Amino acid sequence: MVLVFAEATNGKFKKAAHEVVTYGAKTAAALGTECVALTLGDVTDAGDLGRFGASKVYNLSAPELATFDGSVYTAAIAGAARQLGAKVIILLHNSTGKNLVGRLAARLDAGSVPGANAIPSTDGGFSVRKSVFSGKAIADVSINTDYKVISLSGNSIPVEESGSAVSVESISVDLPAAKTKVLETKRAEGITPLPEAELVVSGGRGLKGPENWGVIQDLADALGATTACSRPVADVGWRPHHEHVGQTGVAIRPNLYIAAGISGAIQHLAGVNSSKTIVVINKDPEAPFFKAADYGVVADLFDVLPRLTEAIKAHKA
Ligand code: FAD
Repeated sequence: MVLVFAEATNGKFKKAAHEVVTYGAKTAAALGTECVALTLGDVTDAGDLGRFGASKVYNLSAPELATFDGSVYTAAIAGAARQLGAKVIILLHNSTGKNLVGRLAARLDAGSVPGANAIPSTDGGFSVRKSVFSGKAIADVSINTDYKVISLSGNSIPVEESGSAVSVESISVDLPAAKTKVLETKRAEGITPLPEAELVVSGGRGLKGPENWGVIQDLADALGATTACSRPVADVGWRPHHEHVGQTGVAIRPNLYIAAGISGAIQHLAGVNSSKTIVVINKDPEAPFFKAADYGVVADLFDVLPRLTEAIKAHKA
């Protein structure tokens, strides 16, 4: 059996949960087994995960799960896997999944592949594909342990509907007391989170300083897009770290990615090169980003971005 941990945000499932269940269902089909989903805490519409291929959904609710604690979540998922007899455990490679994948592997004495980006191959064994060396090479990692733990890189596969809503069953697992205490949670309001954004406008060091971010924000506002940035921009504090895209940041797959003043280093490309259309604005015609671009504008971003914003506003008026 394949067990997928489907994480909810504020009790609701987003595209990322649908993606990881789709991945679990395809993995289960390749193995000739069933895929079940596990949800933790108070959630709504859990049975809806059946639409993406879960044959059943299990919910584990307990006061210890009210806020995220790595050791409690590990105990919950590992305990559920043991109880249900699931040998393949799949979760998303987001901040929660990155925290849990190694812990789960250690707890279950499992081989693990963090950051998988393709459906496992079951031809003569079990191997999982992932990008290595910042997306420059691909590794097929074979796992031959009894338990297998995989975390799926976000936006690696398209979400697919393959079923209908299913029943939700409660399970219980002995949980340890939480070791961490959440003091405050701050949520960004009103913008689509980067991993789910269809339109992204991103700025790099070419912006020169945080006081110039307005040209990026104005274009994003005109388009209804989410903003992102290169890593140095977050490192120096011009923008918050959750906006940094790339190998060490968020991986995105929007319909449109507009990058201004970003050189296109491989570490940056590793997180954005699955975008459907890439538009690069850079004053250096030799900038490596142009090789990955669908449309390239060799120009000063401070000249182009305001004109683009005005043109979009005029088009929408
Ligand atoms: P720069 O490389 O300085 O490029 C700025 C660009 O702006 C230049 O191409 C310049 O021509 C252009 N420019 C300047 N002025 C203008 C103007 N007025 N108009 C138009 N264009 C202009 N980086 C990431 O982004 N994401 C990651 O996840 C990431 N992970 C990393 C992991 C490791 C292990 C390492 C070693 C590095 C990582 N990096 C990452 C850093 C990466 O290697 C690059 O250093 C970084 O992406 C460069 O950021 P940048 O393009 O904003 O800056």
